[in-house]
Amino acid sequence: MSEGITLDETTHIFRSKLPDIPLPNNLLLHKYCFLKLPEVANRTCLIAAARTYTYADTHRASRKVAAGMSKLGIQKGDTVMILLPNSPEFVFTFMAVSMLGAVATTANPSYTAAELAKQLAVSNAKLVVTLSAHVHKLNNQQAQHRFFKVVTVDDPPENCSAFPEGDESEVPEVEISVEDAVALPFSSGTTGLAKGVILTHKSLVTSVAQLIEGENPHMYLKEEDVVLCVLPLFHVFAMHIVMMCGMRTGSAILLIEKFEMRTLLEAIEKHRVTVAILVPPLVVALTKNTAVEKYDLSSIRLVMSGAAPLGLQAEEALRKRLPNAILGQGYGMTESGPVLTMSLGFAKFPFPTKCGSCGTVVRNAEMKVIHPLTSLSLPRNEHGEICVRGSQIMKGYLNDEKATAETIDADGWLHTGDIGYVDDDDEVFLVDRAKELIKFKAFQVPPAELEDLLRSHPSIADAAVVPQKDDAAGEVPVAFVVGFDLTEDAVKDFVAKQVVFYKRIHKVYFVDAIPKSQTGKILRKELRAKLAKIIERN
Ligand code: AMP
Repeated sequence: MSEGITLDETTHIFRSKLPDIPLPNNLLLHKYCFLKLPEVANRTCLIAAARTYTYADTHRASRKVAAGMSKLGIQKGDTVMILLPNSPEFVFTFMAVSMLGAVATTANPSYTAAELAKQLAVSNAKLVVTLSAHVHKLNNQQAQHRFFKVVTVDDPPENCSAFPEGDESEVPEVEISVEDAVALPFSSGTTGLAKGVILTHKSLVTSVAQLIEGENPHMYLKEEDVVLCVLPLFHVFAMHIVMMCGMRTGSAILLIEKFEMRTLLEAIEKHRVTVAILVPPLVVALTKNTAVEKYDLSSIRLVMSGAAPLGLQAEEALRKRLPNAILGQGYGMTESGPVLTMSLGFAKFPFPTKCGSCGTVVRNAEMKVIHPLTSLSLPRNEHGEICVRGSQIMKGYLNDEKATAETIDADGWLHTGDIGYVDDDDEVFLVDRAKELIKFKAFQVPPAELEDLLRSHPSIADAAVVPQKDDAAGEVPVAFVVGFDLTEDAVKDFVAKQVVFYKRIHKVYFVDAIPKSQTGKILRKELRAKLAKIIERN
């Protein structure tokens, strides 16, 4: 057994190997992110293709946007959709929203009009901040919402306004509680459609602090670090680990708007990136792409992969490619605020970590692994559902008490739907995903959404969508369909026209019926087993 008291032997509750810290979660998120402003005012905060911004510039620009948004009518409690690629304006808008006591719901700029319509309706966004290229996808929305406005950070087309910038002195004084929502990312969680995940100032400040505050932080970042932001800021992973942790530390954030391998490698070399936050497909690309050898990546001291399973082979290959870097994984879930575990190889005084491990539960939090049927907590090395508790987890799903109660139990434990175990050294290993969610290259694909879409086709009576393992993407969605007079291509095209690229159906299997329980729930395990048999036969 490892040193320190990390396990309550009677209830099998796991804790971090690092001691708890005093949490600064009485601070509002923007105040916390800019806490180092007096010390780092003249240091670089954001590096974008066109220009760089110091911390003072970033703070000023955020305040101007806050003043501008206030003039547009945005008030405390209003929701603003940020529909932008990685850019300084994303950061300014996010911080401005926090300053106004408003709530930022972030969406993928590649979403189709139909996908955006759903998120706009559920989140009840009053304002969308975007690029002119995406406005056509919002046009039909404007008629539906009375107070709905669109502003663009580039030249605004007709019916849109310019990115709002007011006078810094006009930022209104707003009374905001740390219990108020500040971010509303969307996630389907363990079941059903995508839902708005309420993250408060307190939950996000707690989650950042759990990683980076104190004498021996879980993830040791320095002012001198240059943190790579190639993952999209609209997903909570980069929003938290790159934007919030990076800013709180006073490091420079290198914003990559669009992933393209050579441009990325050039940027890493040119800006001497020290910390690379990645997802497994990017790790694989870095190990396999021969262009990598032509660039000097020796500045990278830390590589963190998260958001989806990283294969052992990829981990070992990357260790060979970047021998001077510490490589490890983080495990997160939007609803858990988002970080549950982090490799202790990233700590200031690191612990050795094993290949395949997702690290240890973060400080000031509790973790347990429960039996899927009895819900009893299990000892080390036994597989079960991972649950987490602490003030970092979401407040709940927006306007969805039922889904909230299904995810956070009466004792405050958040049930992740992930199957894993904690080993003798407190390291967490994930072995399976019991929830419906499919992850294509770390992007969320909620099966229920695709099933609804398929059932809306006039020739489809019923449908179920399950994951199929895929070397490049990790998983791809495949559909079992009860239909008539239909071809596979017709089904695929029907879906492809209405969804973002990663939700496209890769294979269609026509069946007579979808297996269901007596209560009408799709028996997904049965379908996964059926799929495994089909693949084995082929
Ligand atoms: P999201 O809410 O989009 O961040 O997705 C959360 C889910 O991604 C988790 O519940 C896991 O199923 C999966 N996930 C996140 N991090 C990891 C990881 N390091 N290894 C395996 N799966 C992960």
